[in-house]
Amino acid sequence: MRLSQKYNIAFPALDRKIGDNNIIYFDSAATSLVPKRVADAVYNFDTKNKANVHRSSHLLGNESTEIMESTRETVKDFINANSTDEVIFTSGTTMSINTLANSFLNSELINDEQEILLTSVEHHANLVPWQQVTKNRNINLKFYEPKNGIIIIDELVELIDDKTKLVSITGQSNVTGQEIDITNLIKKIKEKNPNTFIHLDIAQLITHKKINAKDLGVDFLSFSAHKMFGPTGVGILWGRKDLLEAMPPFITGGEMIDQVSLEKTTFNILPFKFEAGTPNISSFTGFKEAINIIEEIGQENISKYIKELTDYALKEMRKVEGIEIYGPKNESHNSLISFNLGKIHPHDIAHMLNDLGGIGIRSGHHCAQPLMKQLGIRSSCRISFSIYNDIAEIDKFIKTLKKIKGWLS
Ligand code: PLP
Repeated sequence: MRLSQKYNIAFPALDRKIGDNNIIYFDSAATSLVPKRVADAVYNFDTKNKANVHRSSHLLGNESTEIMESTRETVKDFINANSTDEVIFTSGTTMSINTLANSFLNSELINDEQEILLTSVEHHANLVPWQQVTKNRNINLKFYEPKNGIIIIDELVELIDDKTKLVSITGQSNVTGQEIDITNLIKKIKEKNPNTFIHLDIAQLITHKKINAKDLGVDFLSFSAHKMFGPTGVGILWGRKDLLEAMPPFITGGEMIDQVSLEKTTFNILPFKFEAGTPNISSFTGFKEAINIIEEIGQENISKYIKELTDYALKEMRKVEGIEIYGPKNESHNSLISFNLGKIHPHDIAHMLNDLGGIGIRSGHHCAQPLMKQLGIRSSCRISFSIYNDIAEIDKFIKTLKKIKGWLS
């Protein structure tokens, strides 16, 4: 039985068909499907509550503010943060990292002689903002380029020295599926240089890995609601309060201010300093419901379930002649699998899986062109798993893949 069925979580999109085939959704790493409960929560809010937040003192306005702030409280508890002051709503991981990059680089937390360490495995969201903000500064961007895109913590830590002010790294690659041992990573970085700050991009990790911001000793975290059964257009930048206090705002305008005169502006307290303009109000109620669902099932159960699916798929896929699977060959490979099949173009495979089997996968460079280059490819196919997938779907995928191979190679 699918984990979603066991916990009675309905995903209406799965009732659809492609031709005669029930939909098989293997693209949750891009965005997850939405549970009915989440969609209902958004619908109910939009039709019964929606008004602007933190502005109006009428009933609907108060209710909207209450829902936004109770969602912040839910997120705080979910990642075990110290305070809601540290939980900043953004539009998603990309915006979280843009905010961090701009605000951090414009603060006194870093100076021109210091460096930022990234890896060549990063999603463009954790690469391009850093390139942009360091363009006109002397701050050096240093890269760890692990062989085959497989991160080895000791190799990365080797690159850290007195100049390393920030390490910004993914907690799980959206291409190799490697889940990093983040506890060990943070421990070793801080041992090497206690003054190095660490930002983790946990976009791929947050659904199935319990994150304990307080205990981890991490400094910044970024993630998106839409990859964890929530609505699009909302995400989180979490940061240590003392660091966020020391950083100027990035996006400016309404709501993030304290006093404005024609000459100058002073800024609001945390977290509002980083939340300019009207947020994606409708998404908060859905985000909260999505977290409730994850908590009901339990991240350990989600992790165990998708790991079983991943291990089974890896075992069966390795039997397909001519397949090349990217990623680690050990236990750290979880929840998604990137591959190529002989010389068949990944887009052709994706189209045919859709048409022949109703199977939705991702093909392309996965917003990780430097990693693609390192792997010596332009693109790959990627399948990814969630609580609504099962073994029978993987069997059907493999059968269809073999059929495609027979036809196209
Ligand atoms: N980081 C990683 C590891 C991702 O997989 C993604 C999206 O696929 C992102 C960042 C960007 O997330 P978003 O598009 O929600 O901003």
